Amino acid sequence: MTFDPRSVIDAKRVGDIVDEIDLRGLIDGYVGGGIGDGPMAAFLMACVLQGLDRDETSAMTRVFVASGTTLSLEGIGRPVVDKHSTGGVSDGVSLVFAPLVAALGLACVKLSGRGLGHTGGTVDKLEAIPGLRVDRSLEEIRRQAETIGCVIASQSEDLVPADRAIYALRDATATVRSIPLIAASVMAKKLAVHSHLIVLDVKAGSGAFMATLEDATALAELCLAIARDHERPAIAAITIMSQPLGAAIGNALEVAEAIDVLRGAHEGRLRDLAVELATHTVVTLTDADPDDARRRASAALVDGSALDAFRGLVVAEGGDERVVDAPAAVLPQAPVRMPLTAATSGILALTDAAALGEAARTLGAGRRRPTDRIDPATGIVLTPKVGDRLAAGQPIGEVHARDDTAARAAADAVAAALTIGEQPVQVPPLVHGWLEEVD
Ligand code: URA
Repeated sequence: MTFDPRSVIDAKRVGDIVDEIDLRGLIDGYVGGGIGDGPMAAFLMACVLQGLDRDETSAMTRVFVASGTTLSLEGIGRPVVDKHSTGGVSDGVSLVFAPLVAALGLACVKLSGRGLGHTGGTVDKLEAIPGLRVDRSLEEIRRQAETIGCVIASQSEDLVPADRAIYALRDATATVRSIPLIAASVMAKKLAVHSHLIVLDVKAGSGAFMATLEDATALAELCLAIARDHERPAIAAITIMSQPLGAAIGNALEVAEAIDVLRGAHEGRLRDLAVELATHTVVTLTDADPDDARRRASAALVDGSALDAFRGLVVAEGGDERVVDAPAAVLPQAPVRMPLTAATSGILALTDAAALGEAARTLGAGRRRPTDRIDPATGIVLTPKVGDRLAAGQPIGEVHARDDTAARAAADAVAAALTIGEQPVQVPPLVHGWLEEVD
């Protein structure tokens, strides 16, 4: 008999606790097609408004994981880490982190998501590489982990199909911004893959789903509690997303920037955060000395070993290998490139990361509906960071657009997203702090 979703929706609407059996009935019914988008969206909105307690969130995570199979990585011969960001703007860390830790002797196996709201998604970014396929079979993931040491794959029919379906629906129904829904979505992807360590990058700031440090900390604590419920070691960094992390916002542009970081040609916050997360990972998994781990991580970004691991990932996932040596020749290019300049002289006091993410989405770099196709070539490159001194007319980046009208609108949005003042400003830290859940 088909599960009738109405009593569960009604229970959550008034803030009652929903048990695991009902969650399973609803979610399995949705994944199986017996329950439509309407009831599921109503339930998700009730969750956003009323919340889920820790037990409900843990139960939802379990139901997500049980909607597919799980992947054992026993015996692949390296310690395995799985890393996840809760979403940000110009957040290309995973593209750097996975090959970087592979170069350091670990394996990184991760299920990533597509863009959500104004934030980009690692799966969309990787798919900007011609030929690359992130829908990997279990056997492909295992073999690639063994041979290359890094795998970035998407949810699939096999792995957390419930998150794949509900993730897209949340994006279309403004039901992303919820601590328990994000925690269940993130942790289901992490629990489905049996890594030795889960590393969470929980973003706080205007470009993240959690605007405040308090909310980001609550999200990190909930994710770690779910890890504890499932006896899985996990650590979480609360990192600052009050401005875009890198310079590039947009799929092909972020791949090109990540390749620059991997070849040691790019300094800055994106590189520094990837090194910081890699250092912490190596220290936690191998008891290495922190200074030594940081030195090795920095070295792997200049000696070509991290770039080689990225090359291995691209080849294994069917992408055009030439992207590694000549990104601009291989990645899709937008027909219009409009230079951006500073409107006035002064110190960059604020960069509205959410507005920039929205502007990139409007250019085609993100979706408005689940069926929208991403335009991988479009986006924004913005080089200055908060605290930088700018001179009026100074080049500060470029808009990559399909036509002049779209480029002009994005350039206006960038100008409106920047606050340039005269007062010295405090440069925001990269990492606010770490939380750990490791025996
Ligand atoms: N990343 C995810 O995987 N899920 C969310 O809900 C938000 C960010």
